[in-house]
Amino acid sequence: MKIVEIANYHVRKAAKTLGMSKRIEKLLINPRREVKVELVIEKEDGTLGIYTGYRVQHSNARGPMKGGLRYHPTVDDDDVKGLASLMTWKTALVNIPFGGAKGGISVDPAELSEKEKELLTRKFVESIHEIIGPNIDIPAPDVNTNQQVMAWIMDEYAKFHGFEPAVVTGKPVDLFGSPGREEATGRGVFIITKTYLERMGKPANVTTFAVQGFGNVGSHAAYFAWEAGGKIVAVSDVTCCIYNPEGIHIPSAIEHVKAHGALKGFDGGEEKERDFALYCECDVLVPAALGGVISTENADEIRAKIIVEGANAPITPSAEETLEKKGVQIIPGILANAGGVTASYFEWVQNIQRFRWSREQVYREMDKIMLEAYNKVDELAREKKLKFREAAYIIALGRVAKSVALRGVMG
Ligand code: NAD
Repeated sequence: MKIVEIANYHVRKAAKTLGMSKRIEKLLINPRREVKVELVIEKEDGTLGIYTGYRVQHSNARGPMKGGLRYHPTVDDDDVKGLASLMTWKTALVNIPFGGAKGGISVDPAELSEKEKELLTRKFVESIHEIIGPNIDIPAPDVNTNQQVMAWIMDEYAKFHGFEPAVVTGKPVDLFGSPGREEATGRGVFIITKTYLERMGKPANVTTFAVQGFGNVGSHAAYFAWEAGGKIVAVSDVTCCIYNPEGIHIPSAIEHVKAHGALKGFDGGEEKERDFALYCECDVLVPAALGGVISTENADEIRAKIIVEGANAPITPSAEETLEKKGVQIIPGILANAGGVTASYFEWVQNIQRFRWSREQVYREMDKIMLEAYNKVDELAREKKLKFREAAYIIALGRVAKSVALRGVMG
């Protein structure tokens, strides 16, 4: 199932509960602008590399549009449209003054040299610089993009518009980035998980975790859970799964990935086939790789009691029904993985103010925002007997619809 279908399913469901007309539902679903560009680079071996770049700007009702850039072969119009929509609901749910956008390039970055990746990134900025900017649309990292890619974006944008570090977030701390941004999404996943567990009377230090995806989000989520005394029994990446029922030493796993580029070969547990992390016995499963990984085909095999969505849209709606019947609790991505965009907001604020916050301040402000969003969702879910996801979308849609109405574009 495509990410756009997953996102629209939840939007339609919330719109129905809110009693919105079809006209307004359509307005909320349709993106404002979709841009698709051809990117041609000369590769180091002299051949031409031809790629497609995308930027979808879903909504600016609540502020400049905000969302990551993904470099992956599966990136296409529908993927980016769905991910852009999720950003609108995420920024609304955590109540930060942004709308939603997403972009990416359909490319396998493993096939590019560092030089080629830089060239491709600069070509992309050259093609979209007129439609991004600190008050228009602010990209950030996502799958296979990192601080270095954000630094190139800032530099390339400056060639057209002058010095404007707030055009992109997730930059290196040495180049107008913010302390705390790199680990923010994973840390946010853990804060939300910890809060949920505590309220269930089960602290993190007596909880077992499995994490699918060991990149930015997965490795940091695993680290914070490990640091709190949680037992991480499985972690996986594109190469394999490492399983250890006694608990994996996460700092060593992170060191291994830094040194070797992947989990394969890490000796802190038994090597299993990649998807084992999804199916192993654990309390909390954190999918932190790609969308749609839990579908009707494998939902029955999930043994976790709680799923916290580190990734965007990892569960299809029909799989969710199966999981709910089994009593699995799901914490939706628009809440659980909103720590990244929240810290990005702080980076943007610092860039605009030409001021620097400490990591402690970023953590403190982020915790406040994440917990406020959690409490709102929890309250509504209890009051109306809703699932967390339904409550989260109802709050987010309500806020966006209100901004749209106040701005008067419904006319
Ligand atoms: P990343 O590129 O840093 O890491 C992705 C990880 O997933 C890698 O370890 C990769 O090997 C692994 N992976 C890929 N395919 C896999 C598979 N089939 N099985 C197991 N592992 C697999 O990306 P990221 O930034 O960590 O993003 C991960 C997810 O979190 C995405 O869905 C992204 O949209 C979402 N997200 C990211 C951020 C952010 O700040 N980076 C914020 C919110 C949501």
